[in-house]
Amino acid sequence: MHYFAPGASVADHLAADCGMALAFIVVAGEQERLRRCEAPDCGRAFVDLSRNRSRRYCDSRTCGNRLHVAAYRARRKEAAG
Ligand SMILES: [Zn+2]
Repeated sequence: MHYFAPGASVADHLAADCGMALAFIVVAGEQERLRRCEAPDCGRAFVDLSRNRSRRYCDSRTCGNRLHVAAYRARRKEAAG
């Protein structure tokens, strides 16, 4: 599928593909799977393809793990007084 003009930049190409993917998801009635990452300094949109739709972060290995570490450090700090 090609939705970009000849000579379009790679970014334009990716944006066009991404837009079509989002349009497809909305049309398919899956818009509730479109989420925003819960990491406060991230906020990226992502599509939750997990079976129980419980995904909270765009990438659990980066944002998810980063917040877990931050929460762990905050708890330790509180415990230490
Ligand atoms: Zn994120």
